[in-house]
Amino acid sequence: MKCVYEINAKDITELDCLGKGYFGVVLRGRWRSHQNVVINCAIKSLYQTNEELKAEISTMTQLRHQNIVKLYGAVLKESLSMVMELCDGGSLKERLLSKHKLKLLATSLLEYSKQIACGMKYLASKNFVHRDLAARNVLLSGDEKIAKICDFGLARNTSDNTDYYFKQSAAPLPTMWTAPEAIRWKKFSEFSDVWSFGVTMWEIFSYGQNPWEDCECYKVPNLIIKGVRLKKPAFCPEDLYNIMYRCWNIESRQRPTFELIEKILFGYHFKFGTY
Ligand code: ADP
Repeated sequence: MKCVYEINAKDITELDCLGKGYFGVVLRGRWRSHQNVVINCAIKSLYQTNEELKAEISTMTQLRHQNIVKLYGAVLKESLSMVMELCDGGSLKERLLSKHKLKLLATSLLEYSKQIACGMKYLASKNFVHRDLAARNVLLSGDEKIAKICDFGLARNTSDNTDYYFKQSAAPLPTMWTAPEAIRWKKFSEFSDVWSFGVTMWEIFSYGQNPWEDCECYKVPNLIIKGVRLKKPAFCPEDLYNIMYRCWNIESRQRPTFELIEKILFGYHFKFGTY
């Protein structure tokens, strides 16, 4: 594949390890760009197959949004690595759980939710389905003020078959975040991403708790079919829980779109004295 964003390996300097993912390690690094400017970056080296990597690259290079991690390019020769924007605040999941920093205020939790909805609205407008939206796949940057959606390893463009992408790869599904129709019939769409957004928002307002923590993974789909849902997090206002709840409608088309979710979230204001 000849990639317009191809980066020469000699323009990359690898530094320390930022994290380990399902498909490989992510290193902090520096990239001497085509304009000869040195840019701090994150380098994701992949163990996964070339085809999956290329799908991820072609997906990410098409996306430009403040709440989506930017892909600068990829080293396709000596090694297979993606060179992307460095988000030095780590993952949202880690931040929510952090005991060493000040606990996030409810206004910050709402702000992150708004930003993720904004990024997902953009993604949907480009006919992309993420398929793995979760707090662990949201990174923070800009003094932890900006949330950026990452990890498009599972994302696919749906424009070829309009609404849905029927999953073919063998990668495991994140069951606790995945919509019932995606688990049962591999039917992925903006609406299945909306389901995952509801779970992500639940993680945010639960300060990083794992969804369905006390439940065995294989039992969750059955509980969902029976109408059981994640409970309202203790400090979450009813109106915000109501948004999550609407995201978990068993009928995918009854769920709100990201456009509507964004609109509702931007119109929401905490009542004075609540927080
Ligand atoms: P996975 O393959 O499990 O979905 P990733 O490989 O995308 O996860 O990322 C693993 C970890 O590396 C993340 O949890 C995060 O801590 C770190 N990381 C990934 N991308 C970046 C980035 N652009 N900037 C900073 N850290 C990153």
